[in-house]
Amino acid sequence: MRVLLVEDDPMVGAAVAQALRDAAYAVDWVQAGQRALQTLAIQAYGVVLLDLGLPERDGMEVLRHVRAQGQAVPVLVITARDTLDDRIRGLDAGADDYVLKPFAMGELLARMRAVIRRQGGVAGPVLSNGVLTLDPATKEVCWADQCCRLTGREFALLQALLLRPGAILSRSELEDRIYGWNEEVESNAVEFLIHALRKKLGSGAIQNIRGMGWMVEKDQ
Ligand code: CA
Repeated sequence: MRVLLVEDDPMVGAAVAQALRDAAYAVDWVQAGQRALQTLAIQAYGVVLLDLGLPERDGMEVLRHVRAQGQAVPVLVITARDTLDDRIRGLDAGADDYVLKPFAMGELLARMRAVIRRQGGVAGPVLSNGVLTLDPATKEVCWADQCCRLTGREFALLQALLLRPGAILSRSELEDRIYGWNEEVESNAVEFLIHALRKKLGSGAIQNIRGMGWMVEKDQ
């Protein structure tokens, strides 16, 4: 899943970006409010992590602008402004949740999983199409009575498909969800990941729709 990180502090930004990449997210990192708005106008994201104190336009302005444009992307505000008023203003402006600085990465990742889940209309912690069950917390996938652990990229690809069972995702749509800026993408990277997943899950787990892309079955 692709994440936009909006954070002007270079140390915090670098640490969060690295932790997110380690957790298999594709991360684009910007350091100013205006740049965040420009980026959100041209690129779709699964989650936005938004600092409030930013140069140019602050995070609250970014949030209001995004919501005024009808963008439903989950926004998790990361901030040191911990007064009750600020939190209420942020939630009223359309934030989905808050993490207060300083925070533990484990908490940020858990809150991200929760807002992603709510966005997908999924009540439980796992994603499933009735055949495959994927746990975002452990990156473990189960089917029939077998389970196995996926690599970060394998997880990101299967998550993209399981968030929209029955929908065909093209190679470029999948690349878009798996890789951030500045990441070299080999031309056959998606095929390579699909191949690896089929080897683990069985060849019927992911369907190839010739000339269009790939999908997982929708729950019957
Ligand atoms: Ca800041």
